[in-house]
Amino acid sequence: MSKEIVVVGGGLAGLIAAIRLQKAGFTCTLFEKKTYPFHRVCGEYISNEVFPFLKKEHLLPTNLNLPNINVLRLSSVSGKTTELSLDLGGFGISRYTFDHFLAQQARNYGVEIIHAEVDKIIFNEEKKNFSVRVGGAFHQADQVIGSFGKRSKLDADLQRGFMNKRSPYVGVKYHIRTQHPDNTIALHNFNGGYCGISNIEEGKSTLCYLVHRDLLKKHKSIHELEKAVLFENLHLQNIFSSAEFLFEKPETINEISFETKEPVCNHMLMAGDAAGMIAPLCGNGMAMAIHSGKLVSDLIIEATKNQHSNSWLKEMYTKQWENLFAGRLRTGRLIQHYLFGSEWSSRLAVSLAVNSKFIANFIVRRTHGEVIQ
Ligand SMILES: Cc1cc2nc3c(=O)[nH]c(=O)nc-3n(C[C@H](O)[C@H](O)[C@H](O)COP(=O)(O)OP(=O)(O)OC[C@H]3O[C@@H](n4cnc5c(N)ncnc54)[C@H](O)[C@@H]3O)c2cc1C
Repeated sequence: MSKEIVVVGGGLAGLIAAIRLQKAGFTCTLFEKKTYPFHRVCGEYISNEVFPFLKKEHLLPTNLNLPNINVLRLSSVSGKTTELSLDLGGFGISRYTFDHFLAQQARNYGVEIIHAEVDKIIFNEEKKNFSVRVGGAFHQADQVIGSFGKRSKLDADLQRGFMNKRSPYVGVKYHIRTQHPDNTIALHNFNGGYCGISNIEEGKSTLCYLVHRDLLKKHKSIHELEKAVLFENLHLQNIFSSAEFLFEKPETINEISFETKEPVCNHMLMAGDAAGMIAPLCGNGMAMAIHSGKLVSDLIIEATKNQHSNSWLKEMYTKQWENLFAGRLRTGRLIQHYLFGSEWSSRLAVSLAVNSKFIANFIVRRTHGEVIQ
């Protein structure tokens, strides 16, 4: 198959799509603006729905003893806790290690990875192909996969609707060393946000929280915000005061948006967060990114083999993407809305989940998908 594919963005969605397409005989060029390895704001808990697939495709490092996570511990602001077992569960691995490993695998298969920022993507109506502009030069492609994450300058250039709405969420992440059981992911709530903690490789833990921007403004610095707001939950106060912090300063991102997006934009097939981002507390954004990378590559392979038109490809992708992900994104948005709504709604939501295993289990089931092979 001699089609030229350009993948814009080398997170999980883009790397998985590029590897699979290159393996199937396409020529893939992947543009990533940063240089691997690098840290990202992410809780680094991966749902097991993608574990068999990653194993089968040899897309997980085998030399690391990755923690297997099957217990969810929830705590309310007042520190009340509940635990439930996760039917499917997941595992922990840092994005620093995982993305770097996948990028190396991609190169081994022959994907050309270029570390540069794409600043424009043009669809040529006449030739039915794409011109991708990078640093003043144009790259031609038969197909472009847009996997440039939750928010990119390209979204503004493409005039995507969600860019008109400001998003009030800020994400903060640390790697720490602390006493935390390997089999548990804890979700500790505080007024105005929630903080996840779970283990990754080399005996480290990831501590990652999402908070309303106004709280950060009010308390002026991350350190003051943590002392004044997160420490109200005694579990968090204990972790912060006893852990060894491994970064000089935290990784942070802002303008995290959960607005609806489109799986096809400017004739491009969008994958991962670029097609829609699920609320982080659902713990399966990475699994969805991997799954959509698989879906987009499977359909491009099928369309090329069977000589289906581009319209067929776009329609099938939209249909299958919506079947797999739209419902989960809706549930995620609803949970996010209640947790970050008024103080009473967030207290009610947390106390319902903490006091009712049935509700907590229901939420986990509604936001997770089928296991993929
Ligand atoms: C606070 C927080 C906690 C989270 N915790 C979890 C968790 O515990 N478990 C989980 O499953 N999910 C979690 N998620 C979600 C998860 O991180 C994302 O869903 C996942 O990273 C999406 O992968 P992606 O490949 O779509 O995008 P990304 O991983 O964001 O990759 C996009 C890439 O595109 C690149 N890029 C952007 N623009 C350009 C351009 N113009 N040119 C070239 N490159 C470009 C970026 O540099 C980036 O590397 C969390 C998210 C947040 C915000």
